[in-house]
Amino acid sequence: LNLRQNNFSAGPGALPTEVLEEVRDDFPVFAGLGASIVEVSHRSGAYTEIHERAKSRLASLLGLGDDWHVLFLQGGASMQFHQVPLNLMPRGGTVSYLDTGSWSAKAIKEAEIVARDRDGTVTVAASSRDADYTYIPRPSEWTVDPEAAYLHFTSNNTIYGTQFHEEPICDVPLVCDMSSDFLSRPIDPKKYGLIYAGAQKNIGPAGVTAVLVRDDVLQSRAEGLPTMLDYGTHAAKLFNTPPVFAIYIVDKVLGWVERQGGLKGMVERNEAKVSRLYGALDASDFYRPTVREDSRSHMNVTFRLPNEDLEARFIQDAAREGLLALKGYRTVGGVRASIYNAVEPRSVELLVEFMRRFEAAYG
Ligand code: PMP
Repeated sequence: LNLRQNNFSAGPGALPTEVLEEVRDDFPVFAGLGASIVEVSHRSGAYTEIHERAKSRLASLLGLGDDWHVLFLQGGASMQFHQVPLNLMPRGGTVSYLDTGSWSAKAIKEAEIVARDRDGTVTVAASSRDADYTYIPRPSEWTVDPEAAYLHFTSNNTIYGTQFHEEPICDVPLVCDMSSDFLSRPIDPKKYGLIYAGAQKNIGPAGVTAVLVRDDVLQSRAEGLPTMLDYGTHAAKLFNTPPVFAIYIVDKVLGWVERQGGLKGMVERNEAKVSRLYGALDASDFYRPTVREDSRSHMNVTFRLPNEDLEARFIQDAAREGLLALKGYRTVGGVRASIYNAVEPRSVELLVEFMRRFEAAYG
């Protein structure tokens, strides 16, 4: 275990060490099963207990009422870019999107594909593409179609390092891609109609996507959809084999979140980390944060050094000291430190110390 280093990976990202230890202990034989949990029926009592517990933990952490369905689907968040409009865009209707990064843009592209078959319209309520997605447009700059079936937004823009700090205010249900800040802070579920998140940042390994959908939104869905792409199929019952290994780990991560004090505990832990890191960046003329101050992500902290050679050296030297995966997204460059829920405050402390030393040597 002391070989585990400080992991700032943007995704798949760090998981709590104690969860990985529990997983290790559950293999190759899960207590009382005579086999491991990935070798038994997904309809067995042992697996059903895990599946149902994961669903109820998720609902209770987020404060979802009985009118919500918790689904564990495959295909990643990218599948949801298509599945959301496929289910929720009315024929001849409108859906609205906030364009705050590459993942939002991909979601918009998929909505446009669905719109072609439905005589639908996709409106972009606001976009920060003009400034390389370095900020979140202010609500006064948006135009949300009041007739839209939903307003879609990406709560945290993993690549650019920006995040919504307030839920968009509008009269239509929110649909949110919460992949990279899921369970990092409390939310107000009343504002949402549907939330989805790939597990591999804050809640588990890749292979499962949490989709939370409010019942009235589910009931309004289009008819005649392919069975596997119809949310109704999965809300009605466990339709086919779910990604059992991923869900089993998600359940353990949710248990860990509960032990940290739930989402209140998470937001306190995350705020301490992000203010430590941005505090160090703001105190320096050597490091330059890349996004507008009011839009800073508490999950992905992006910054530049005076030149690309120094950036490459920074990333390499950091890795040698056990500070891993600090390279910015391939199309953006620079440095990105992802400080998801499981990243320990101590890792951030070590990063800040390293940054000081690096600046002293090269600044
Ligand atoms: N949305 C966001 C905000 C993401 O960060 C990512 C991926 N990293 C995706 C969507 C795509 O997720 P997936 O790879 O699960 O399709």
